[in-house]
Amino acid sequence: MSSDAVGDETPRVTHTGGMAGKSDGQGPADRIIDVPGLQALVDRLIARGYTVIGPTVQSGAIVNAAITSVEELPQGWGDDQDAGHYRLRRRDDEALFGYASGAQSAKPVFFPTEEVLWRGRRTQEGFTVEPDDSAGRDAPYALLGVRSCDLSAIGIHDVVLTGRVHGDVAYAARRAAAFVVAVTCSDPGGTCFCVSMGTGPRPEQGRGAPYDLSLTELLNGGPHRFVVEVASERGADVLDEIGAGPAPAEDVVAGDAVAEEADARMGRHVDTDGLKELLYAAADSPVWDDVATRCLACGNCTAVCPTCFCTSVEDVTDLTGDLAGRTRVWDSCFDADYSWIHGGTVRATTKARYRQWMTHKLGSWIDQFGMSGCVGCGRCVTWCPAAIDITAEAAALRAAAEPDERDAGTLP
Ligand code: SF4
Ligand code: SF4
Repeated sequence: MSSDAVGDETPRVTHTGGMAGKSDGQGPADRIIDVPGLQALVDRLIARGYTVIGPTVQSGAIVNAAITSVEELPQGWGDDQDAGHYRLRRRDDEALFGYASGAQSAKPVFFPTEEVLWRGRRTQEGFTVEPDDSAGRDAPYALLGVRSCDLSAIGIHDVVLTGRVHGDVAYAARRAAAFVVAVTCSDPGGTCFCVSMGTGPRPEQGRGAPYDLSLTELLNGGPHRFVVEVASERGADVLDEIGAGPAPAEDVVAGDAVAEEADARMGRHVDTDGLKELLYAAADSPVWDDVATRCLACGNCTAVCPTCFCTSVEDVTDLTGDLAGRTRVWDSCFDADYSWIHGGTVRATTKARYRQWMTHKLGSWIDQFGMSGCVGCGRCVTWCPAAIDITAEAAALRAAAEPDERDAGTLP
């Protein structure tokens, strides 16, 4: 990944396709490290100037935070997830990455909840613009333990936020500077469906955002260790610095088995065949009326979704009137005000808002950006207080539409 100037001064994230000379993502270039080796990796990243962001246990959930030690990782913790349900549970082993996606993705790191776009102060001489880098104060970031679904989500944000005419300069700068350590998902949650969306469970070069290293955790057949896929030159450099040796062939095979087992244990499934056309044809489906009786329009689903990117701007002054600024904040299409325009709200009902969100996510996103807006992470299902399940609603739409739509020949 690199950054270069485009147009005015907009840095653009470009994907350079991984490591030269390594084409399949697995094989002879794989290395092996143990838990002290993982600590050495963290130490090297910190020595290189990165703030390492990794999973921790906080407030009964897996929460991303700045870490300096592997002892801060969720050792021995797993989770139970279902629609509207999330609980941590103790595992019977010492796994460091033995849980499914937590409430957070990489989104808040690269695309923070609040970002000062502009701030100025009235002075004796006139008005001076004050720089504010509070959202990226700790950059550059090294992300440890990024799931495959979330790599795909980062790849989507790279397109949405830097691939259009007016790029998000701050996002692009944070992305271009970041070091990414991915991880194979060994224990998918009850709401995961990355296999349906083609985004997981194992990171693959060329799918989603690029990464530098990818870990597959092994707990059996020897000491606690990690097969490390090397996906960038700087990733190889860091491993050389910590003296990571080549992975034994049997560990590479064991790592493949971890991914294959996870692949077969998805909590949920979505039939994506003709899904965009199904949604486009379903504007008047009674399914929307049904979901609207349950949806609280709280916006939780959009907050946890790693691809949702709706924002609004707030202009504020301090009480003295000397300091003024404009801040970009996360918003949600479930907010009635979000579609307020020229004296009215375009999507005045919860039914209209849920229909808009799901149709965009699984349908019109494809026409807009060339890819689905859903990576199958399951967060919107887990964290919905009304236990509304996008996979169940997709199935309900298909079931409600099939007799008519198939007769009309508009569905495959
Ligand atoms: S679908 Fe669930 S999380 Fe999303 S707005 Fe409705 S109630 Fe809230
Ligand atoms: S729509 Fe739901 S399952 Fe899909 S990416 Fe967003 S949070 Fe994850």
